[in-house]
Amino acid sequence: LSPIRHHNFCAGPAALPTAVLERARDEMLDYRGHGLSVMEMSHRSPEYVAIAEKAEADLRELLAIPANYKVLFTQGGATQQFAAVPYNLLGRGGSANFVDTGIWSRKAIAEARHLFGDVRVAASSEADGNTAVPRPEQLEFSGDAAYLHYTANETIGGLAFDYIPGSEGGGPRRPDGSEVPLVCDMSSSILSGPLDVSRFGIIYAGAQKNIGPAGLVVVIVREDLLDRARPDMPSLFGYKALAEAGSMVNTPATYSWYLAGLVFEWLKDDIGGLAAMEAINARKAAKLYAAIDASALYSNPIAPANRSRMNVPFVLADERLDKPFLAEAEQAGLLNLKGHRSVGGMRASLYNAVPEAAVDALIDFMADFENRRG
Ligand code: PLP
Repeated sequence: LSPIRHHNFCAGPAALPTAVLERARDEMLDYRGHGLSVMEMSHRSPEYVAIAEKAEADLRELLAIPANYKVLFTQGGATQQFAAVPYNLLGRGGSANFVDTGIWSRKAIAEARHLFGDVRVAASSEADGNTAVPRPEQLEFSGDAAYLHYTANETIGGLAFDYIPGSEGGGPRRPDGSEVPLVCDMSSSILSGPLDVSRFGIIYAGAQKNIGPAGLVVVIVREDLLDRARPDMPSLFGYKALAEAGSMVNTPATYSWYLAGLVFEWLKDDIGGLAAMEAINARKAAKLYAAIDASALYSNPIAPANRSRMNVPFVLADERLDKPFLAEAEQAGLLNLKGHRSVGGMRASLYNAVPEAAVDALIDFMADFENRRG
């Protein structure tokens, strides 16, 4: 690790691979002999279009995205998708259905309810304090469901789905056998491992965890869903128009898109693809949870099958130790371990760019702190 780079466990904007930042630095003033920075390029120039297309091609390769899906590079954060999804899918009537597993799914529910009122919660984990996701047989979507939305990984609660709702080759089925398209907020877990994209109608993800810098959102949408938009939809929300314009209806987040492309290249060339990435992520998370479970000071309440590999929240048995824990961690070069303001405690986010050595350093620090203060 470069002496100026600390270990960053931030939930988002999150750590980026050092190799990616080094490359961006090297290309910052003069992008490959073009005499200007990518930031200064016209999004319609051949140089920039080549950057944008390469990023999409690499993402398609990494996730093995089938040809009947469009990949959009848009803006407004994942939060804008809480509105864009119902606008794009409720044009033929029907209701928006949700699985409620925590703070982010509830924000998506609240926005759909605010806009269109007709919202159904198909299953909720609230009764058990969001410590386990509802089982597949507990999902009760309505007969008129236009789609079923869930949050693959609750970034704040550290709660992750261990299954994809529905069946092979598509979303869950209505009693008459027709498909309810599955929509997934994958902001904090996309690219953490291989994925069967064909199970989904729409996948969306804010970039600032596993994709790249903030300001960019990736949407992967099945083509047959492009004709279901409400006529009153703001035009910039429209997946069809974005797809037809190569995500350039207006000026895209050009630099974030370029950096995302460097991250995709890093995943392919340096890591060796998403299966290799998943193995690393599994190891990182397993050793941190093992350390927490073996300790008398730290604890995590999530059901083992639903423990997030990306966000590991934990509390200290004595809250008065929170402040010294964070202060000493920071001194040891372990940054951004404070839990979300709504839940307190600690949270270590272990996204793709967090190296295994960072997790080892954290575990050593936690053990040392417990020995001295626990
Ligand atoms: N959904 C999930 C699962 C998140 O973790 C976040 C942000 O942390 C969001 C949505 C909101 O993303 P944004 O800030 O890009 O709107």
